Amino acid sequence: MITLKNEAQIESMRQAGKLLYEVLQAVKAAVQPGVTTLELNDMAEKLIRDGGAVPSFLGYEGFPASLCTSINDVVVHGIPSREDVLREGSLLSVDCGLQLHGWQADSALTVGVGRISPVHRKLLETAERCFFEGAARAVAGLRLGDIGAAVEAEAVRNGFTVVHDLSGHGIGREMHEDPYVYNFGFSGRGLQLRKGMTLAIEPMVCAKDWHVTSDEDGWFVRTCDGGWAAHYEHTVAILEGRKPELLTLPGYVWKEDS
Ligand code: MG
Ligand code: MG
Repeated sequence: MITLKNEAQIESMRQAGKLLYEVLQAVKAAVQPGVTTLELNDMAEKLIRDGGAVPSFLGYEGFPASLCTSINDVVVHGIPSREDVLREGSLLSVDCGLQLHGWQADSALTVGVGRISPVHRKLLETAERCFFEGAARAVAGLRLGDIGAAVEAEAVRNGFTVVHDLSGHGIGREMHEDPYVYNFGFSGRGLQLRKGMTLAIEPMVCAKDWHVTSDEDGWFVRTCDGGWAAHYEHTVAILEGRKPELLTLPGYVWKEDS
């Protein structure tokens, strides 16, 4: 079921989104060679709890941490560990969710550890641009297919691919609500978007082929061909007649609107 949020509810999600933005910015600033993914997780969890919120991922379907840390060929759902010491040249995707006063926020970004290769720089920048291309179509009256088509077109334009087996989602009181928000699709097709929908749009972009496989533990999702991947996600609120508000990127102003 798709739930539409009123202005008061969106304000609650805005507060959750702002806290999550601060958590992820702190995690991003701490990324450097020699740091373990467990240290990043512990930092995120403390900041979430200090902000009066609850980590959404911890215990979700048995996930054992507050942060997903996915390195190189791991696309999503990597589990933080003291064994995973970040190395120069790696790509680290961090995905985090929190619940504040009963409302969820979900956001992810990919960071280069120290110096990274030009192609990997391009990969993570493309994942970000894919998000903005898709999110720009998250406007009341347009359709889910408009978002997905724009995301995939941007990836393909840059010589990359998007994962088809995983998607974004509605979000609100629950971390995962309807609808699925695919990173591919046909313009003008699919569910019509309405004011008050809140969506997590999250392109997962692969350097090579997009097919993925899960490790035996059921968590770490990796590319089958070992190519590296980047992930970028924000929680957005759909508005009438203009581009969405990015709840997990407070203060963001769309350039065309200014
Ligand atoms: Mg996420
Ligand atoms: Mg998500």
